[in-house]
Amino acid sequence: MKAALITKFCEPLEVTDVAEPQTPADGVLIDVKACGVCRSDWHGWKGTNHVITLPHVPGHELAGIVVDVGRDCRKFKKGDRVTVPVILGCGHCACCRAGNLTICDDQYVVGFSGWGAFAERVAIPLADANVLKLPDSISDEVAAALGCRTTTSFSAVVDKAKVKPGETLAVHGCGGVGLSAIMIGAAVGATVIAVDIIDEKLELAKQVGATHVINAARTNDVGEAIRDISGGGADASIEALGVTQTLHNSLRCLAKLGRHVQIGQPLDEHANPPVPLLETVYYRQLVIMGSRGLPALRFPALFEMISSGRLDIARLIKTRIELEDAGAALAKMDNHEDVGITLIDRF
Ligand SMILES: [Zn+2]
Ligand SMILES: [Zn+2]
Repeated sequence: MKAALITKFCEPLEVTDVAEPQTPADGVLIDVKACGVCRSDWHGWKGTNHVITLPHVPGHELAGIVVDVGRDCRKFKKGDRVTVPVILGCGHCACCRAGNLTICDDQYVVGFSGWGAFAERVAIPLADANVLKLPDSISDEVAAALGCRTTTSFSAVVDKAKVKPGETLAVHGCGGVGLSAIMIGAAVGATVIAVDIIDEKLELAKQVGATHVINAARTNDVGEAIRDISGGGADASIEALGVTQTLHNSLRCLAKLGRHVQIGQPLDEHANPPVPLLETVYYRQLVIMGSRGLPALRFPALFEMISSGRLDIARLIKTRIELEDAGAALAKMDNHEDVGITLIDRF
Protein backbone atom coordinates (compact mmCIF):
# COMPACT_ATOMS: atom_id res chain seq x y z
CA MET A 1 0.00 0.00 0.00
CA LYS A 2 0.99 3.63 -0.41
CA ALA A 3 2.19 5.59 2.65
CA ALA A 4 3.94 8.91 3.36
CA LEU A 5 7.05 8.15 5.41
CA ILE A 6 9.25 10.31 7.59
CA THR A 7 12.67 8.84 6.77
CA LYS A 8 14.67 11.81 8.17
CA PHE A 9 13.39 14.50 10.55
CA CYS A 10 12.64 17.82 8.81
CA GLU A 11 13.20 16.28 5.35
CA PRO A 12 10.36 15.93 2.79
CA LEU A 13 8.10 12.91 3.41
CA GLU A 14 8.73 9.98 1.09
CA VAL A 15 5.54 8.65 -0.52
CA THR A 16 6.27 5.03 -1.30
CA ASP A 17 4.93 1.48 -1.25
CA VAL A 18 5.16 -0.24 2.14
CA ALA A 19 4.01 -3.61 3.47
CA GLU A 20 0.29 -3.94 4.28
CA PRO A 21 -0.18 -3.39 8.07
CA GLN A 22 -1.01 -6.44 10.20
CA THR A 23 -4.43 -6.37 11.86
CA PRO A 24 -3.89 -6.44 15.67
CA ALA A 25 -5.68 -9.31 17.45
CA ASP A 26 -7.65 -6.76 19.52
CA GLY A 27 -7.98 -4.25 16.71
CA VAL A 28 -9.12 -3.36 13.23
CA LEU A 29 -7.56 -2.52 9.88
CA ILE A 30 -9.03 0.69 8.46
CA ASP A 31 -9.11 1.83 4.84
CA VAL A 32 -8.41 5.54 5.34
CA LYS A 33 -10.87 7.90 3.62
CA ALA A 34 -9.73 11.18 5.18
CA CYS A 35 -6.91 12.25 7.51
CA GLY A 36 -6.18 15.65 9.04
CA VAL A 37 -2.73 17.23 8.94
CA CYS A 38 -2.08 18.48 12.45
CA ARG A 39 0.57 20.44 14.34
CA SER A 40 1.24 17.26 16.38
CA ASP A 41 2.30 15.61 13.10
CA TRP A 42 4.56 18.61 12.50
CA HIS A 43 6.16 18.12 15.95
CA GLY A 44 6.73 14.47 15.07
CA TRP A 45 8.24 15.41 11.71
CA LYS A 46 10.51 17.98 13.39
CA GLY A 47 11.82 15.31 15.77
CA THR A 48 10.61 17.03 18.95
CA ASN A 49 8.34 14.12 19.91
CA HIS A 50 10.77 11.56 21.24
CA VAL A 51 8.42 8.57 20.97
CA ILE A 52 8.92 8.27 17.20
CA THR A 53 11.50 5.97 15.65
CA LEU A 54 12.25 6.25 11.92
CA PRO A 55 11.05 5.40 9.38
CA HIS A 56 7.61 6.47 10.53
CA VAL A 57 4.17 7.13 9.06
CA PRO A 58 2.43 10.05 10.85
CA GLY A 59 -1.31 10.79 10.89
CA HIS A 60 -3.79 10.45 13.75
CA GLU A 61 -6.94 12.30 12.63
CA LEU A 62 -8.72 9.76 10.53
CA ALA A 63 -11.97 8.35 9.33
CA GLY A 64 -12.41 5.29 7.18
CA ILE A 65 -13.92 1.86 6.63
CA VAL A 66 -13.06 -1.28 8.59
CA VAL A 67 -11.59 -3.80 6.12
CA ASP A 68 -10.32 -6.43 8.57
CA VAL A 69 -11.10 -7.36 12.19
CA GLY A 70 -8.74 -9.00 14.72
CA ARG A 71 -9.79 -12.32 16.26
CA ASP A 72 -10.36 -10.79 19.73
CA CYS A 73 -12.25 -7.73 18.53
CA ARG A 74 -15.99 -8.05 19.22
CA LYS A 75 -17.67 -4.73 18.41
CA PHE A 76 -16.72 -4.21 14.76
CA LYS A 77 -17.22 -5.86 11.39
CA LYS A 78 -15.97 -5.28 7.87
CA GLY A 79 -17.68 -2.29 6.28
CA ASP A 80 -18.19 -0.30 9.50
CA ARG A 81 -17.50 3.41 9.00
CA VAL A 82 -15.37 4.55 11.94
CA THR A 83 -13.17 7.18 13.52
CA VAL A 84 -10.54 6.82 16.21
CA PRO A 85 -9.58 8.99 19.21
CA VAL A 86 -5.92 10.02 19.12
CA ILE A 87 -5.22 8.53 22.57
CA LEU A 88 -6.28 4.91 22.99
CA GLY A 89 -6.68 3.54 26.53
CA CYS A 90 -6.06 -0.09 27.46
CA GLY A 91 -9.73 -0.38 28.46
CA HIS A 92 -9.23 -2.26 31.72
CA CYS A 93 -7.00 -0.27 34.13
CA ALA A 94 -8.54 1.87 36.90
CA CYS A 95 -8.36 5.08 34.77
CA CYS A 96 -10.03 3.41 31.79
CA ARG A 97 -12.71 1.74 33.91
CA ALA A 98 -13.56 5.19 35.31
CA GLY A 99 -13.98 6.44 31.72
CA ASN A 100 -10.70 8.41 31.67
CA LEU A 101 -9.03 6.62 28.76
CA THR A 102 -6.89 9.62 27.83
CA ILE A 103 -4.87 9.30 31.06
CA CYS A 104 -4.39 5.52 30.83
CA ASP A 105 -0.86 4.55 31.97
CA ASP A 106 -0.63 2.10 29.10
CA GLN A 107 -1.96 4.36 26.34
CA TYR A 108 -1.37 4.00 22.61
CA VAL A 109 -1.13 7.27 20.69
CA VAL A 110 -2.28 6.86 17.08
CA GLY A 111 0.38 7.96 14.60
CA PHE A 112 3.05 8.06 17.32
CA SER A 113 3.10 4.73 19.21
CA GLY A 114 2.76 3.01 15.82
CA TRP A 115 2.39 3.94 12.16
CA GLY A 116 -0.44 6.35 11.45
CA ALA A 117 -2.91 7.24 8.73
CA PHE A 118 -0.86 9.16 6.13
CA ALA A 119 -1.40 5.91 4.26
CA GLU A 120 -4.00 3.93 2.39
CA ARG A 121 -4.60 1.75 5.44
CA VAL A 122 -3.86 1.92 9.18
CA ALA A 123 -3.90 -0.77 11.88
CA ILE A 124 -5.60 0.33 15.11
CA PRO A 125 -5.28 -1.77 18.30
CA LEU A 126 -7.61 -1.74 21.36
CA ALA A 127 -10.61 -1.24 19.09
CA ASP A 128 -13.45 -2.36 21.39
CA ALA A 129 -12.57 0.23 24.06
CA ASN A 130 -11.77 3.09 21.72
CA VAL A 131 -12.89 2.98 18.08
CA LEU A 132 -16.19 4.72 17.26
CA LYS A 133 -18.80 3.90 14.65
CA LEU A 134 -19.75 7.08 12.82
CA PRO A 135 -23.40 8.15 12.68
CA ASP A 136 -24.69 8.87 9.14
CA SER A 137 -24.89 12.56 10.05
CA ILE A 138 -21.08 12.78 10.43
CA SER A 139 -19.16 12.61 7.13
CA ASP A 140 -15.67 11.11 6.80
CA GLU A 141 -14.30 14.61 6.24
CA VAL A 142 -15.93 16.06 9.35
CA ALA A 143 -14.84 13.06 11.46
CA ALA A 144 -11.24 13.54 10.31
CA ALA A 145 -11.49 17.28 10.87
CA LEU A 146 -12.48 16.62 14.50
CA GLY A 147 -8.98 15.24 14.92
CA CYS A 148 -7.19 15.79 18.16
CA ARG A 149 -8.08 19.47 17.84
CA THR A 150 -11.86 19.57 18.13
CA THR A 151 -11.95 16.61 20.50
CA THR A 152 -9.39 18.25 22.81
CA SER A 153 -11.22 21.58 22.53
CA PHE A 154 -14.56 19.93 23.34
CA SER A 155 -13.01 18.31 26.39
CA ALA A 156 -11.41 21.64 27.40
CA VAL A 157 -14.46 23.89 26.93
CA VAL A 158 -17.31 21.53 27.88
CA ASP A 159 -15.84 18.93 30.23
CA LYS A 160 -12.93 20.76 31.94
CA ALA A 161 -13.71 24.52 31.99
CA LYS A 162 -17.48 23.75 31.98
CA VAL A 163 -18.11 27.04 30.16
CA LYS A 164 -21.69 28.25 30.67
CA PRO A 165 -23.93 30.50 28.54
CA GLY A 166 -23.13 34.17 29.12
CA GLU A 167 -19.60 33.55 30.38
CA THR A 168 -16.52 35.00 28.68
CA LEU A 169 -14.01 32.58 27.15
CA ALA A 170 -10.59 33.73 25.94
CA VAL A 171 -8.77 31.59 23.38
CA HIS A 172 -5.05 32.19 22.90
CA GLY A 173 -3.87 30.89 19.53
CA CYS A 174 -6.13 30.50 16.48
CA GLY A 175 -4.68 27.42 14.81
CA GLY A 176 -6.92 24.37 14.29
CA VAL A 177 -7.32 23.64 18.00
CA GLY A 178 -7.94 27.29 18.91
CA LEU A 179 -10.51 27.81 16.16
CA SER A 180 -12.47 24.75 17.23
CA ALA A 181 -12.35 25.98 20.86
CA ILE A 182 -13.79 29.29 19.63
CA MET A 183 -16.60 27.48 17.78
CA ILE A 184 -17.43 25.26 20.76
CA GLY A 185 -17.34 28.28 23.09
CA ALA A 186 -19.79 30.09 20.81
CA ALA A 187 -21.93 26.92 20.56
CA VAL A 188 -22.34 26.76 24.35
CA GLY A 189 -23.35 30.45 24.43
CA ALA A 190 -20.15 32.11 25.66
CA THR A 191 -18.73 35.45 24.58
CA VAL A 192 -15.45 34.48 22.92
CA ILE A 193 -12.32 36.66 22.75
CA ALA A 194 -9.69 35.32 20.32
CA VAL A 195 -5.98 36.16 20.38
CA ASP A 196 -3.36 35.53 17.68
CA ILE A 197 -0.56 37.40 15.92
CA ILE A 198 -1.79 36.78 12.34
CA ASP A 199 -4.69 38.93 11.10
CA GLU A 200 -5.88 36.26 8.63
CA LYS A 201 -6.36 33.81 11.51
CA LEU A 202 -8.18 36.45 13.56
CA GLU A 203 -10.46 37.13 10.61
CA LEU A 204 -11.33 33.42 10.48
CA ALA A 205 -11.79 33.45 14.27
CA LYS A 206 -14.42 36.18 13.86
CA GLN A 207 -16.16 34.27 11.10
CA VAL A 208 -16.50 31.15 13.29
CA GLY A 209 -17.80 32.85 16.42
CA ALA A 210 -15.29 35.13 18.18
CA THR A 211 -17.00 38.36 19.24
CA HIS A 212 -13.69 40.18 19.88
CA VAL A 213 -10.23 39.62 18.45
CA ILE A 214 -6.84 40.84 19.68
CA ASN A 215 -3.64 40.88 17.63
CA ALA A 216 -1.04 40.16 20.33
CA ALA A 217 1.75 41.47 18.11
CA ARG A 218 0.20 44.94 18.29
CA THR A 219 -0.98 44.80 21.92
CA ASN A 220 1.24 45.72 24.86
CA ASP A 221 -0.57 43.77 27.54
CA VAL A 222 -2.95 41.07 26.23
CA GLY A 223 -4.13 40.18 29.75
CA GLU A 224 -5.13 43.77 30.46
CA ALA A 225 -6.82 44.12 27.05
CA ILE A 226 -8.99 41.07 27.77
CA ARG A 227 -9.78 42.25 31.31
CA ASP A 228 -10.88 45.61 29.79
CA ILE A 229 -13.09 44.01 27.10
CA SER A 230 -14.70 41.57 29.53
CA GLY A 231 -15.13 44.01 32.40
CA GLY A 232 -12.86 42.30 34.91
CA GLY A 233 -11.47 39.25 33.17
CA ALA A 234 -12.42 36.10 31.30
CA ASP A 235 -14.21 33.34 33.21
CA ALA A 236 -12.24 30.69 31.34
CA SER A 237 -9.18 30.86 29.13
CA ILE A 238 -7.58 28.38 26.80
CA GLU A 239 -3.91 28.28 25.86
CA ALA A 240 -3.82 26.65 22.44
CA LEU A 241 -0.19 27.06 21.40
CA GLY A 242 2.04 25.60 24.12
CA VAL A 243 4.10 28.79 24.36
CA THR A 244 5.24 30.46 27.61
CA GLN A 245 4.15 33.99 26.60
CA THR A 246 0.62 32.84 25.75
CA LEU A 247 0.43 30.89 29.02
CA HIS A 248 1.23 34.13 30.86
CA ASN A 249 -1.34 36.04 28.77
CA SER A 250 -3.93 33.38 29.55
CA LEU A 251 -3.35 33.47 33.31
CA ARG A 252 -3.26 37.29 33.37
CA CYS A 253 -6.50 37.68 31.40
CA LEU A 254 -8.61 35.66 33.83
CA ALA A 255 -11.16 37.01 36.30
CA LYS A 256 -10.90 35.96 39.93
CA LEU A 257 -11.64 32.22 40.28
CA GLY A 258 -11.09 31.90 36.50
CA ARG A 259 -10.23 28.58 34.87
CA HIS A 260 -7.17 28.15 32.66
CA VAL A 261 -7.06 25.08 30.43
CA GLN A 262 -3.77 24.10 28.82
CA ILE A 263 -4.33 22.38 25.49
CA GLY A 264 -1.25 23.57 23.57
CA GLN A 265 1.54 21.04 24.03
CA PRO A 266 4.47 22.84 25.71
CA LEU A 267 7.66 21.38 24.26
CA ASP A 268 11.38 22.11 24.63
CA GLU A 269 12.01 25.52 26.25
CA HIS A 270 8.26 25.85 26.93
CA ALA A 271 8.02 22.57 28.86
CA ASN A 272 8.84 24.03 32.30
CA PRO A 273 8.01 27.73 32.10
CA PRO A 274 8.15 30.21 34.98
CA VAL A 275 4.57 31.08 36.02
CA PRO A 276 3.42 34.44 37.49
CA LEU A 277 2.01 32.50 40.42
CA LEU A 278 1.55 35.18 43.07
CA GLU A 279 -0.45 37.76 41.08
CA THR A 280 -2.61 35.21 39.24
CA VAL A 281 -3.07 31.73 40.67
CA TYR A 282 -2.56 32.76 44.29
CA TYR A 283 -4.29 36.15 44.69
CA ARG A 284 -6.94 35.58 42.01
CA GLN A 285 -7.41 31.98 43.15
CA LEU A 286 -7.33 30.59 39.64
CA VAL A 287 -7.71 26.99 38.58
CA ILE A 288 -5.21 25.48 36.13
CA MET A 289 -6.26 22.38 34.20
CA GLY A 290 -4.87 20.32 31.35
CA SER A 291 -6.79 18.71 28.51
CA ARG A 292 -5.50 16.20 25.99
CA GLY A 293 -7.78 14.23 23.70
CA LEU A 294 -11.31 13.05 24.42
CA PRO A 295 -12.23 9.59 25.67
CA ALA A 296 -14.44 7.48 23.40
CA LEU A 297 -17.49 7.67 25.65
CA ARG A 298 -17.67 11.48 25.22
CA PHE A 299 -17.66 11.39 21.41
CA PRO A 300 -21.46 10.92 21.19
CA ALA A 301 -21.95 14.29 22.96
CA LEU A 302 -19.64 15.92 20.42
CA PHE A 303 -21.39 14.17 17.52
CA GLU A 304 -24.70 15.45 18.90
CA MET A 305 -23.41 19.05 19.01
CA ILE A 306 -22.53 18.69 15.31
CA SER A 307 -25.66 16.79 14.21
CA SER A 308 -27.92 19.35 15.90
CA GLY A 309 -26.32 22.12 13.80
CA ARG A 310 -24.77 23.98 16.75
CA LEU A 311 -21.19 23.17 15.66
CA ASP A 312 -20.24 23.38 11.98
CA ILE A 313 -16.72 21.96 11.91
CA ALA A 314 -16.76 21.65 8.10
CA ARG A 315 -16.31 25.43 8.01
CA LEU A 316 -12.78 25.00 9.35
CA ILE A 317 -11.68 22.75 6.47
CA LYS A 318 -9.76 25.14 4.24
CA THR A 319 -7.47 22.86 2.21
CA ARG A 320 -7.95 19.39 0.73
CA ILE A 321 -4.83 17.65 -0.54
CA GLU A 322 -3.66 14.28 -1.82
CA LEU A 323 -1.20 12.08 0.07
CA GLU A 324 1.71 13.24 -2.12
CA ASP A 325 1.29 16.77 -0.75
CA ALA A 326 1.27 15.84 2.97
CA GLY A 327 4.96 16.71 3.41
CA ALA A 328 4.49 20.16 1.86
CA ALA A 329 1.50 20.72 4.19
CA LEU A 330 3.71 19.95 7.22
CA ALA A 331 6.46 22.26 5.96
CA LYS A 332 3.90 25.07 5.66
CA MET A 333 3.42 24.87 9.44
CA ASP A 334 7.02 26.05 10.04
CA ASN A 335 5.93 29.69 10.18
CA HIS A 336 2.42 29.14 11.64
CA GLU A 337 1.05 30.30 8.26
CA ASP A 338 -1.40 27.42 7.84
CA VAL A 339 -4.96 28.68 8.19
CA GLY A 340 -7.82 26.37 9.18
CA ILE A 341 -7.74 22.58 8.78
CA THR A 342 -5.91 20.75 6.00
CA LEU A 343 -7.26 17.30 5.11
CA ILE A 344 -5.78 14.51 3.01
CA ASP A 345 -8.76 13.09 1.10
CA ARG A 346 -7.01 11.29 -1.78
CA PHE A 347 -4.64 8.40 -1.12
ZN1 LIG B 1 -6.07 1.90 30.73
ZN1 LIG C 1 -3.92 16.18 15.80
